Order: sequence, then C-alpha cells, then structure tokens
Amino acid sequence: MRITDLWSPGKKPTVSFELFPARSEKGAVSLKKAIDELSELKPDFVSVTFGAGGSTREGSRQLVEVLKNEKQMEVIAYFACYGLGPDDITAVLDSYRDMGAENILAVRGDPPKEEDFKPHPNSLPHASDLVTFIRQRNDFCIGVAAYPEGHIEAASKEKDLEYLKLKVEQGAEYIITNYFYDNAYFFDFVERCRTARIQVPIVPGVMPIYSSKMMSMLADLCGVTITDEVRQGIAGLPEGDKDTLLAFGIEFATRQCRSLLEAGVPGLHIYTMDRSASTIALLKQLRTEGLLP
Ligand SMILES: Cc1cc2nc3c(=O)[nH]c(=O)nc-3n(C[C@H](O)[C@H](O)[C@H](O)COP(=O)(O)OP(=O)(O)OC[C@H]3O[C@@H](n4cnc5c(N)ncnc54)[C@H](O)[C@@H]3O)c2cc1C
Repeated sequence: MRITDLWSPGKKPTVSFELFPARSEKGAVSLKKAIDELSELKPDFVSVTFGAGGSTREGSRQLVEVLKNEKQMEVIAYFACYGLGPDDITAVLDSYRDMGAENILAVRGDPPKEEDFKPHPNSLPHASDLVTFIRQRNDFCIGVAAYPEGHIEAASKEKDLEYLKLKVEQGAEYIITNYFYDNAYFFDFVERCRTARIQVPIVPGVMPIYSSKMMSMLADLCGVTITDEVRQGIAGLPEGDKDTLLAFGIEFATRQCRSLLEAGVPGLHIYTMDRSASTIALLKQLRTEGLLP
C-alpha cells in the first residue's frame, strides 16, 4: 500500500510507531517485546530507521522484512544517504523493493561517529538529491523529514522551508516531522508550509519523555526546545523516581496529542525508542476519549 492512501480526505487520523534495529542483545530483547506489544495496538503503519553511513544496513533490512512479511504490517523504511555512493544506495533500495516495500522516507543522515568513516566521493549532499535519485529509478511512495523548530544546521527557518519545498518538488509525497514540546511550533510550521504552497500531508512526530537524561541528550542533538512547562513539570517531581517521570511523560504527551488531534492532524507518529509502555498508555487514553479509532 502507498502510505499516502491512508491520508486521503475523510480518512480517520493514523497512528504509527517508529522502531530502530537493535544494536545489542539487550536491545534485541527490548525490540522484540516492543514489536509484540505494539502490534497489539494495530497501528496503521510502523517505520524503521536506517543508520547513516550504512551502519544498520542489514539490521534495518531484516527489521523491515520481519515487520512487513512476518507481522504483515505496513512499513515505511527510512533511508539515510549520508556517505553512501550511488551503487550502495541502489543496492539498498533494490533490497527493499525485492521484499515488497513500497514506502521510503528519504533523509540525509548525519556523519557517523566512527572517526575513520570516509564518505564516498559521489555521495549525495542533501535529502533533496536522494529524493531525485530515488524518483528517477523507483516507484516508491517517498516521504521526507522536517523540523518544526528549523533544522539545527539551517541558515534560517526561511531557508529550511525553501529546501523542504525543493524535496517536495523533487517528488516527496508526505512529511513526517521531528518531535517538539510545544504544539505552537508545529502549528506555525504547518501554516508556513501551506503559505509556501507545500500541500502534502504533514504528520507530527511525538516523543513521550522516557528519562531526563535521554530527553536532554536528544534535544541537544536535534535542536528541540525543552520548554519551561516541561522543565518546571520535571522539577516538581521526586528526584530519581523513574516511574513518576514516565507518568509525567505520558500525561504530557497525551495532552499534546489531544490538542494535535483536535486541530485535525492527519495522524500521530510516535517515537517509541523501541519501548512500549508509554505508547500503550498514551493510545489507551486517546482511544478511551474517542479521539482515535
Ligand atoms: C522523521 C525523521 C526520520 C529520521 N530518520 C533518520 C534515519 O533513519 N537515519 C538517520 O541517520 N537520521 C534520521 N533522521 C535525522 C536526519 O537524518 C538528520 O536530522 C539530518 O541532520 C538531516 O536530514 P534531512 O533529511 O532533514 O536533511 P536535508 O533535507 O538534506 O537538510 C539538512 C540541512 O541542509 C539544509 N539543506 C537542505 N537542502 C539543501 C540544499 N540543497 N542546499 C543547501 N542546504 C540545504 C537544510 O536546511 C538542513 O539544515 C530523521 C529525522 C526525522 C525528522
């Protein structure tokens, strides 16, 4: 199924989960549990990340295969082109096509941490180049990433939007956003997209807070603002109490999702970090309230 069919006019909002391939035995246990428990929630689709520089190439392929062909779920395979040459890109895309995958999210990726990693001399500099590359060769339904607060390297929000528009003009059919802790960033971003005549579906990414350390680390990495509301909420919790923090994260994400759904978003894409408990609690609440099917 082309994933954009889910967002045709009149359709109910979708629910989807991001997963990443395990990098350790402990991670594999966590991932298996997450797949088993999250599949019970009957998401409209799941997505699978791809480590830049090809670092999770085989793990990503295997995970897409399991989710698609064993678990019979709709899947968006992410693909990060950073450092890869045209032959590598073609090989990965062919492997996805051969297993019947129809949906790709094309991202640039970031330089891998390994100091000895050498990008291929003909690697693609931007996600828009990857979209063009894919469009010329395959019939995948292609999506791209966007950042409601602006990408961390962007010269300005205006420039960032210009390049996002280029990705859509090159053939991207939908957008999934980075997460944010203030919906105003998302609403403003969508408005700016529509003014710039970017008309494709824009699905907000939502990340429940799993731990203070992870929250701070990822926010720094992705250029996400930790709002005063979040800071003050966490400051009021008993120090070191993981369960209370998780409960706060669930309650905060539920409020965020409620307001996004009431504003008519096409779906919610949950960054699960290969964990299931927060997502289960979040969805249970939204479904009880009749906000999600
Ligand atoms: C939904 C989502 C999924 C993701 N999945 C993955 C994943 O699976 N693997 C992974 O490694 N990373 C992933 N990322 C992270 C992403 O790779 C990084 O944020 C990366 O830094 C930028 O990727 P991009 O596709 O947005 O890049 P681009 O669209 O190329 O933009 C990168 C920067 O370059 C600028 N720019 C874009 N085009 C041009 C141009 N033509 N000329 C000059 N400047 C330009 C932009 O303004 C921006 O600042 C994901 C992010 C999101 C939001």
